[in-house]
Amino acid sequence: MLDNYQRDINYLRISITDRCNLRCRYCMPKEGLSQIGHDDILRYEEILRVVRSSVSLGVAKVRITGGEPLVRRGIVPFVAALKALAGIEDLSLTTNGILLERCAADLFQAGIRRINVSLDSLNPDKYHDITRGGSLADVLRGIAAVYDQGFSPIKINVVAIKGFNDDELLDFARLTLENPYQVRFIELMPLGHPGRDNLGKYLASEAIMGAIANKYSLSPVNGEGARMDGPAKMYRIEGGRGEIGFISPVSHHFCHLCNRLRLTADGKLRACLLSDEETDLKTPLRTGCTDSALATLIKEAIAGKPRKHEVRFDGPSLRKCVKNMSAIGG
Ligand code: SAM
Ligand code: SF4
Repeated sequence: MLDNYQRDINYLRISITDRCNLRCRYCMPKEGLSQIGHDDILRYEEILRVVRSSVSLGVAKVRITGGEPLVRRGIVPFVAALKALAGIEDLSLTTNGILLERCAADLFQAGIRRINVSLDSLNPDKYHDITRGGSLADVLRGIAAVYDQGFSPIKINVVAIKGFNDDELLDFARLTLENPYQVRFIELMPLGHPGRDNLGKYLASEAIMGAIANKYSLSPVNGEGARMDGPAKMYRIEGGRGEIGFISPVSHHFCHLCNRLRLTADGKLRACLLSDEETDLKTPLRTGCTDSALATLIKEAIAGKPRKHEVRFDGPSLRKCVKNMSAIGG
């Protein structure tokens, strides 16, 4: 379905839980967030109803995210149920990778092939520090497990953080020499609870790319203009098996390309990550709304999708987006 600015809204990101087994410093406070009550989390059947309705309006890509999606019980049958829905051409999952080793075979069996793993340091102590307790070895075993299963593509998402992992940019880039991974650097957004703390730690994609290009020759994946993979601009080190991507929500906002809707764990539909406008779907779902009433609500949310976000990352309107990434799903 086209929105009011001729963007084809075909991508739904679903946060299936706001809970997480890590506490990344840039995403969550140490003590975690006040969690949504168990009854307020959408049940899988309710999510599936929203997905069916969205698919009838043109959604063809679905990503499962969180919080940490692999901590929610029943995720494997949920993936299988999504996989069985006609009309979904692209099903993917974003995870921190901690529980991935033990879930990889079941997830593959359930039908998922595309996976994003978030990993901000290749140094065990630094990883432990940024995640407030996570084990790098668990994540590396998870990545190896999805590789062995045959998942493809495997994307490794690295949030670039000044003073934290700016000395590891080449190490991450080198991962693409031997492995067919897509390593994607994401600019740190000053959002939610740790928002202001994040402000001074932002690194622009240009700087990251420059640091890598000083050492390796980077070629755009598609010849002249680098291939866009969603919002990521893709490059390759000559001879490397993988690719390197740059996602620049701060330095180059990509609102004009935005094809996304987001369903939060508590059943709110968001048309823009950076706007707190939400459409409540949980109440209608629980008070017996018809399929056509549900579709109307989704259409209204699409119609209300702003042309671009109004958050100024450098100052006064930062407070506008108060929800945390873990509640929205990134
Ligand atoms: N827990 C899962 C994970 O970490 O992959 C899925 C949810 S997490 C909110 C999704 C993505 O958002 C992760 O790649 C994470 O690094 C990213 N993220 C969280 N806070 C961010 C911020 N302030 N700026 C940029 N990316 C952020
Ligand atoms: Fe959890 Fe992902 Fe947020 Fe880290 S980025 S605290 S893993 S939700």
